[in-house]
Amino acid sequence: MSKEATQNTFQEIISHCKEYGFIFPSSEIYDGLGAVYDYGPYGIELKNNIQQYWWKAMVQLNENIVGIDAAIFMHPKTWKASGHVDAFNDPLIDNKDSKKRYRADVLIEDAMAKIEEKIDKEVDKAQKKFGESFNKEMFLQTNPNVLRNKEKLNTIETRFKKALEENDLADLKQIIVDLEIACPISGSRNWTDVRQFNLMFATEVGSVADEASTIYLRPETAQGIFVNFLNVLNTSRQRIPFGIAQVGKAFRNEIVARQFIFRTREFEQMEMQFFVRPGSEMEWYNKWKEARWKWHRSLGFAEESLKFYDHLKLAHYANAAVDIQFNFPFGFKEIEGIHSRTDFDLKNHQELSGKKLQYFDPELNQSYIPYVVETSIGLNRTFLAVLCNGFKNEKLEDGSERTVLALPPFLAPVQIAVFPLVKKDGLPEKAREIFDILKWDYKVFYEEKDSIGKRYRRQDALGTPFCITVDHDTLTDNQVTIRDRDTMKQERISIERLKEVVNEKVDWKKGLR
Ligand code: ATP
Repeated sequence: MSKEATQNTFQEIISHCKEYGFIFPSSEIYDGLGAVYDYGPYGIELKNNIQQYWWKAMVQLNENIVGIDAAIFMHPKTWKASGHVDAFNDPLIDNKDSKKRYRADVLIEDAMAKIEEKIDKEVDKAQKKFGESFNKEMFLQTNPNVLRNKEKLNTIETRFKKALEENDLADLKQIIVDLEIACPISGSRNWTDVRQFNLMFATEVGSVADEASTIYLRPETAQGIFVNFLNVLNTSRQRIPFGIAQVGKAFRNEIVARQFIFRTREFEQMEMQFFVRPGSEMEWYNKWKEARWKWHRSLGFAEESLKFYDHLKLAHYANAAVDIQFNFPFGFKEIEGIHSRTDFDLKNHQELSGKKLQYFDPELNQSYIPYVVETSIGLNRTFLAVLCNGFKNEKLEDGSERTVLALPPFLAPVQIAVFPLVKKDGLPEKAREIFDILKWDYKVFYEEKDSIGKRYRRQDALGTPFCITVDHDTLTDNQVTIRDRDTMKQERISIERLKEVVNEKVDWKKGLR
């Protein structure tokens, strides 16, 4: 698909979210608040289902992982110890003509992605030209255009990495100048210098505003886990290696919040900190990389829609870090980070709090501060990825079109819709009876208005895997018609068999076994 077509699809997905009650702009009656969104009746169901699926995969299926729910407000020293007060910055740059603000690193990354696109296009072109006999590996190693772009990419990458590591803001600007990056709004290259900007939101507790009462909205949920390390260790009977998981809101004063719910200033993270023996962290890092990849695949994401991306610049706490990226309509972007955080956080909390945050390892007969491997995934970004992956406009055999959300059935906001064929002759009563049987196990939707065809389309657009229709025969043979969202095939089955058929499809366990 061309870039323009994918952009159009993205706009359609955003409109679809509003039209079908997944996501609304915040405080819309006041014209909304930039980059803030509310989840509607179907959005909250889908979001909850993703969250629960993550929780099941991480906590329920791993006897050595337990959960907590820490408060958003934390002691201000937490953020001193974690390094966020001093180092949680993004480099910003303004375009003097449009007065628009950008993240300098993102401008450079986007420019690099464009060069990669050029290479991909070159490959596509050659593939079309040579057909079956095309040797991609050989082409990538020999084509002069590809080689020139690869070389260019390598040079930028090395320089970019160095500038980030050395916090060389002047060179970051120079890279933007040298790459001739223009502001997408004004089209000009009239840039300010690059400055650092701290992403934490500060606020005051109580009625007196002084230095000591300044607290921050947490920029990550992880610190709630670190400061509870001893509490959990002492109460959960866990022994190293073990993990603590948490889902909750995080806040970052992003320089540019955009791309719908991809980057917002208030968002939710699902994080797990895995505490390990020092020296074993790389082994666990690799294990978690693999486990998390499998989880993403179980959401129905194709192998080629996902990518590992090693960090160019490691965060202040990490000795290894990789992102799992998803191919959004606006390109491959991070949905999850897997970080080896060393003993950075616990060590600093120990120092600043004066409390010993150590573990006595009976096998080694020694105490140490554990090392940590973290998996950190954005709930909202996963939601967006699931939507983008499932959204389809299909042309049907009869020439008509339908919009369908091919969501994994275990995540669907509604799992079964129950329809009486007509609004009379006792059919609504029978359909309600079935609704009442099913509602104990599934999220069920009842509807009797409009033609069956229209009702099917509405459920397709919501991603409902099954529609059940009650007709006159049902009253005598106790059978209903069950329609499958993806194949649109209709089958007649007895009411007793409904749960069996539905269970087979909405089972969340299959992808994780
Ligand atoms: P980015 O490079 O996109 O700013 P990050 O590397 O700062 O992200 P992490 O600190 O690794 O992100 O956070 C873990 C996860 O939290 C990310 O993979 C992402 O899914 C989610 N996340 C981070 N920032 C935001 C945001 N502003 N809006 C929505 N989700 C976010």
